[in-house]
Amino acid sequence: MPEPVRLRVAVDTPAHSALGEPLDYVAAESVPVGSLVRVPLSRRVVTGIVWPQAAEGRTAKAAVSDAALRSVDAVLAAMPPLSSSWCQLVEFASRYYQRGVGEVALSVLPPELRKLDDTQIAKRIARPACGLKVSDEPSSTEGDPPQLDPAQTLVWESLHGAARSAQPPTALLHGVTGSGKTEIYLRAAADALDRGRQALLLVPEINLTPQLEAQFARRFPDRLIVSLHSGLTPSQRLRSWLAAHLGQADLVLGTRLAVFASLPRLGLIVVDEEHDPSYKQQEGARYSARDLAVYRGRLESILVVLGSATPSLESWQRAQEGRYLQLSLPARIGAGALPAVRLVDMNHQPRVRGPQAALSAPLQAAIQARIDAGEQSLIFLNRRGYAPVLHCGDCGWKSACPHCSAWRVFHKLDRTLRCHHCGLAEPVPRACPDCGNPDVAPIGRGTERLEEQLGALFLRPDGQPARILRIDADSTRRQGTLAAGLGAVHAGEIDVLVGTQMITKGHDFRRITLVAAVNPDGALFSSDFRAPERLFALLMQAAGRAGRDAAQSARSEMWVQTWHPSHALYAALRRHDFASFAADQLDERRASGLPPHSHLALLRADARSADAARAFLQAASDAGRALSGCESLSWYSPVPTPVARVADVERMQMLIESTSRSTLQAFLAKWVPALHHLRRERGGAGPILRWAIDVDPLAI
Ligand code: ADP
Ligand code: ZN
Ligand code: ZN
Repeated sequence: MPEPVRLRVAVDTPAHSALGEPLDYVAAESVPVGSLVRVPLSRRVVTGIVWPQAAEGRTAKAAVSDAALRSVDAVLAAMPPLSSSWCQLVEFASRYYQRGVGEVALSVLPPELRKLDDTQIAKRIARPACGLKVSDEPSSTEGDPPQLDPAQTLVWESLHGAARSAQPPTALLHGVTGSGKTEIYLRAAADALDRGRQALLLVPEINLTPQLEAQFARRFPDRLIVSLHSGLTPSQRLRSWLAAHLGQADLVLGTRLAVFASLPRLGLIVVDEEHDPSYKQQEGARYSARDLAVYRGRLESILVVLGSATPSLESWQRAQEGRYLQLSLPARIGAGALPAVRLVDMNHQPRVRGPQAALSAPLQAAIQARIDAGEQSLIFLNRRGYAPVLHCGDCGWKSACPHCSAWRVFHKLDRTLRCHHCGLAEPVPRACPDCGNPDVAPIGRGTERLEEQLGALFLRPDGQPARILRIDADSTRRQGTLAAGLGAVHAGEIDVLVGTQMITKGHDFRRITLVAAVNPDGALFSSDFRAPERLFALLMQAAGRAGRDAAQSARSEMWVQTWHPSHALYAALRRHDFASFAADQLDERRASGLPPHSHLALLRADARSADAARAFLQAASDAGRALSGCESLSWYSPVPTPVARVADVERMQMLIESTSRSTLQAFLAKWVPALHHLRRERGGAGPILRWAIDVDPLAI
């Protein structure tokens, strides 16, 4: 009888059991690392992954005899094993973000895969792969790459060389909106494909970028292109994932989860809009797909291109220090100009009532002029619904959510009051619930109200009302409505487009010549130190939607209504001067010891009472301060999260900070096991519901 073989298998164990390390099993014969197996786990049989042997020093577990170990149920041999570099990427992510190896490994595989047996997997693998279809309209010339302009040529020459070096760098491509970054991505992808490699392109929100998919499909008509994002059905997602894993797909377009795609011939990673907050996962392992892309690039010795008009300060800082290859496209393609920025000082605008109140008089006149000229405008307001709150003028009642520390938003179309935090939705009361006054009034303005008011303000040259379209999470809930709406804008059937930040990202609108932000000031005074960075990026993005057609760009404008026109952020925006904005922000961050000059971890705790949440964080802090290595950290006090109560759960958070990433990491590796322990021991102020650690948190 052959000797049984001992295997480490990554399974999705609860984080606290053995701290999420792979478990030992025995098998009748050896199984290649990276293979899928079915193994018993307590009373169930689950899918696991045969994991590489632990690095030195990580095998702290007491030696268990083979006889005491459970055996592997089945090997899913139809599936080619995952590569060891894939395992390494997952292992790194799990350690860096302080989650179990198996938890991360299994959560980034397509969910469908975990349900299948060997025969079913074999069947899926046998099915021919299918990728994105090129749209029907014959566009013979569009497939041909355009001649690069001089700035693109310089960038491309650098990248072409960089891709061929022994240890290719991470490149930061800072290119203003409309400077032709996408063309660079296409060239880099073509180059990787020519070398027989696969290319991975990450985008913040794939649903917003059917244009990008179409562009790639047109440029590479003979290649298999698949997309990977959470909008796919489980079976589509498995199909795309398998096409990538089997090496059939040449190009993978995806959102943050695609950074974990298994790509045996990977030769290039592009992260478009690398500054976008949606690259950070907000639950489970709170990973940054951008940061993991950089890690993966180094691991696999391939070129990584981070592209943005407004790079994250983290990436910008690294480029400035020479750790990233810095590339720039400083101007728009052709004769295109960036829009002129006009600030409307709201302190000097007369107070008006009714629809007129939506827009200042000069902005209103400017939009009417665009409509008269047959051009389009885009108005950006980052607030959904009709009004953020309902108010009774007699007794002072406001539409608070009974379960959250937030107002319920008035939605006029379906006459509901909706809490955007817990989802509670109720019909609007006919009269004030406290005093019976029938005159409860909306305060403030959301996109729904803005849409209504704009409809009353503008006429087309033929005397008909202007065609207003609203695009936000509410108006696009039904499948297909977003695509139809964008199609109408592209076709010129809309005069004014109103919406949330959904409409500011990425779209290559050709007829918009005016963009307006009607109420962006809020972020100037946020407690989150990243709020100005995000606002600047958002406004630059929004400005980037205007004048994308070079013939119209000279007339294009970005309007900002503000009560703080002399704010430095707006001054930099006027000059489209990202570099000086970034330099100012980095100085401020340096002075206050904030990222990227320091490294943060955020511990959050949720409980039924704020006291219980605070007590847990306090105990966590006490436990941490008893560990070696804690002296070099800065500890902040527990504070409520910005929306402290959601669905009757109180949420508190506590920051810790270090000037050194490795010091922080070494500390977390000791502290997090202690926290698991603490969780089980809690008494005193009552139990907490959950806690989580967020390494490199984005929202504070
Ligand atoms: P970005 O991604 O930087 O915002 P795009 O890549 O969308 O900019 O480019 C803006 C427009 O310029 C697109 O319509 C694109 O097709 C066009 N374009 C890009 N490069 C060239 C070029 N070298 N010659 C002509 N047109 C180009
Ligand atoms: Zn009242
Ligand atoms: Zn609520």
